[in-house]
Amino acid sequence: MAKIKTAFFCQNCGAQSPKWQGKCPSCGQWNTYVEEVIQKEEGGKGTWKQSTGNKKTATPQKITEVNYEEQPRWVTGDPELDRVLGGGIVPGSLVLIGGEPGIGKSTLMLQIALTLKGKTVLYVSGEESEAQIKMRADRMAAQNPDCFVLSETNTQQIFQQVELLKPDFLVIDSIQTLNSQYVESAAGSVSQVRECTAELMKFAKETGTPVFLIGHVTKDGTIAGPKVLEHMVDTVLQFEGDRHLTYRILRTSKNRFGSTHELGIYEMRVDGLRMVANPSEILLTQREEVLNGVAIGAMMEGNRPLLIEIQSLVSPATYGTPQRSSTGHDAKRLNMLLAVLEKRGGMRLGNQDVFLNVAGGMRVDDPGLDLAVCASLISSYEDTPVSEKICFAGEVGLGGEVRAVSRIENRISEAEKLGFAKIVVSKYAVKGLDLKKYKIQVLQVSKLEEMYQLIF
Ligand SMILES: [Zn+2]
Repeated sequence: MAKIKTAFFCQNCGAQSPKWQGKCPSCGQWNTYVEEVIQKEEGGKGTWKQSTGNKKTATPQKITEVNYEEQPRWVTGDPELDRVLGGGIVPGSLVLIGGEPGIGKSTLMLQIALTLKGKTVLYVSGEESEAQIKMRADRMAAQNPDCFVLSETNTQQIFQQVELLKPDFLVIDSIQTLNSQYVESAAGSVSQVRECTAELMKFAKETGTPVFLIGHVTKDGTIAGPKVLEHMVDTVLQFEGDRHLTYRILRTSKNRFGSTHELGIYEMRVDGLRMVANPSEILLTQREEVLNGVAIGAMMEGNRPLLIEIQSLVSPATYGTPQRSSTGHDAKRLNMLLAVLEKRGGMRLGNQDVFLNVAGGMRVDDPGLDLAVCASLISSYEDTPVSEKICFAGEVGLGGEVRAVSRIENRISEAEKLGFAKIVVSKYAVKGLDLKKYKIQVLQVSKLEEMYQLIF
């Protein structure tokens, strides 16, 4: 019998080492190394074998002479997904959908499988039985008679079925449940996840079949999940949103076939996920009266302008140290803006609790929202509402100056489309722009002070 070969893998980043280490030299995490058996059978490589075995030797080609045919993308029945992927599914691509357990990844993938009309889809689940998947599919509005389900975790078994069925589209739910017989360690371990992904990658590339993988991530990131996988796949999508909120956000964090930072929004309903065509409408709360501490910001997410509601509450701290809390917005950025308001705006915030919330469970990092955040904080502090017909787009600097932000035209147009009467922007952003073409009134400011005088 051959000697069993083992290696140690960091369960956080996937680094490999011949001996155990306390601290991972690659990602700096402590106590993450676990021994895994990596022995392989003789000739074990190449589990996906294509029937035609004639191998071509690659020779260098002149770049001008390389034949290149752009493969048409498949447009799915889901415009949100198409946009996030950069215009549809690329044949032969390996796409990873990551997200916390229970967020709805399986629901999303099953729905996509059901909306791909006219394509043979194989949905492989290592988590649920065929009957459970059927039960979920029955609750959904979309139906696809060419969607096949398979409850299986062994990759060799899966490939056998794939060869028989020859699906156009393969879904794996989830990569952590798969195991390959060529790797001895348990399902979900780094070496197993790596091997299974490599096998699927080979399958996708050789057959031109797009493969979607679902990958779980836990909050502390202890599972050998997308962190290891991200480097191997073509596209990484993240499915996120608060489990208790009805909205879900699908965003790209890596894409070999398109831009990242694209975003799709879904509403979780009993009959599946509904695409939200106009997200600004849901991100702006419908309300009867004007509230203090609310301001609307015009932000960009990828190529898409969004109007989003920023809410804040500034109130005297009753218990000792004042609290600073922000949901959906960077806490450091909030602290910086508070310092600017204190120093440049003369607001006394040292003894105030400050809570900031981005409506709709969104997570935002566009500095163009600074002006809206400031307006919302001032509004709560002064107990004076901001008119609901005004929105903001501008970055605030340490000197209290209002800076230009990217794609100001898209932001202004979106605000106009949604019926806002005025938008406050940096005067440096609209240089050379013909403002007369807008129905919306564009107010230009260069300092926070000017914004204050205009609004309050
Ligand atoms: Zn590591």
